[in-house]
Amino acid sequence: MKRVVVLGGGESGVGAAVLAKVKEFEVFLSDSGCLKDNFKAELEKWGIPYEEGGHTKEKIVNADIVIKSPGIPETAPLIVELHSMDKPVISEIEFAGYYDTAKKICITGSNGKTTTTSLIFYLLQNAGLNVGLGGNIGKSYAYQVATEKHDIYVLELSSFQLDGMYDFKADIAVLLNITPDHLDRYDHKMQNYINAKFRITRNMKAEDCFIFCSDDEITMGELNRIIIQAKKLPFTQNGKVLQGAYVEEGRMNVRYGESSFEISVNDLSLEGRHNVYNSMAAAIAGKIMNIHNDTIRKSLMTFQGVEHRLEKVLSVGGVLYINDSKATNVNSTWYALESMTAPTILILGGKDKGNDYSEIAHLVEKKVKAIVCLGVDNTKIHAAFGDKVVADTLSAEDCVKKCAQIAKPGDTVLLSPCCASFDLFKSYEDRGKQFKDAVRKL
Ligand code: ADP
Repeated sequence: MKRVVVLGGGESGVGAAVLAKVKEFEVFLSDSGCLKDNFKAELEKWGIPYEEGGHTKEKIVNADIVIKSPGIPETAPLIVELHSMDKPVISEIEFAGYYDTAKKICITGSNGKTTTTSLIFYLLQNAGLNVGLGGNIGKSYAYQVATEKHDIYVLELSSFQLDGMYDFKADIAVLLNITPDHLDRYDHKMQNYINAKFRITRNMKAEDCFIFCSDDEITMGELNRIIIQAKKLPFTQNGKVLQGAYVEEGRMNVRYGESSFEISVNDLSLEGRHNVYNSMAAAIAGKIMNIHNDTIRKSLMTFQGVEHRLEKVLSVGGVLYINDSKATNVNSTWYALESMTAPTILILGGKDKGNDYSEIAHLVEKKVKAIVCLGVDNTKIHAAFGDKVVADTLSAEDCVKKCAQIAKPGDTVLLSPCCASFDLFKSYEDRGKQFKDAVRKL
């Protein structure tokens, strides 16, 4: 019996272990940290042995296949050692792909993955298809392959997941954009990160489709360098394309083969220029899947968005509060600001991953009345924006109260912090929830 060792016991690791068990491997799961109770219960239910709080090397190096959680870096000593022994180290997605014959629509990019993945899933569900949602979102793909049966999967893939993928093939791949992110995991070399993102096109054939943003310079630079077998379907907000999607006079046009689809940008339920891109990508995927135009239209008009992404919370005293806690880098805050139509009080701060605030300086100048910091170390924000910064706060409640004092009816308070949340919160979700609670208490 072949032995599968799973490193990391989170959503994807536990899912991979369950699938390996179902496929009759000898399975062992090892996590250097603590396992959550629900994951322990799941492993026990399936009779899968595990350890936590450290890795026992002898129980790992005898594996035939190692499945590594995307959170573990390639430079971790154990991983380096496994590589030196020529052990196959793969991702949960790669492993699940071995056992899944469903059609796979895969989405990656630096920003917009969850939104676009959820939108495509919603669209296919509205078309009445038997579709699963997975990857970096919700229930793990491997767990679903082990316990459910779907005809189609829509999978959100991070660069870390793509890193561990070799034989996996997407039928439709979406690459939304590439901006510098996670460079600490890529030897501080942008090209390494670009290569990881482009792994989504690996093994694709002429009958497969590659959807990408032709306004993205990094994507385009790479496409000029490499050969991709799949049909290329660009989307753009600058000019026209013959196949793919473009915007002309406020209307989004989609062309795939002989068929076409149109919708007014004003009718899209998701607001903001970035969401026009996300909606275009989803509409192209819908056309490829041969979904009826009425269904595509209805889906783009009614999709409710995903929590913590430009989520309208409440209007209090004529001031609209928006939760964009997921904006953990400068690029996503750029798009959030770009979509603001009212004078804005912007909440910035948290754990900075190497931000260059000059990228949003122009938009801050134009749209932002005041900045309230929510973070432990706000030095860089003060240096970048000077007098615009009116307060430093250390809790969501204080921060929201401060914003409420400054805001006038007609203003918007926007939490789009450019930073990760770990200095003050458990996660961006926790930050967003605390923000919303504080708004509701006003
Ligand atoms: P991801 O899953 O890639 O992190 P999300 O859909 O969760 O992306 O969105 C994260 C943030 O990125 C949102 O707060 C939004 O403001 C911004 N964003 C969404 N789509 C795009 C896009 N196409 N381009 C740039 N920024 C985007």
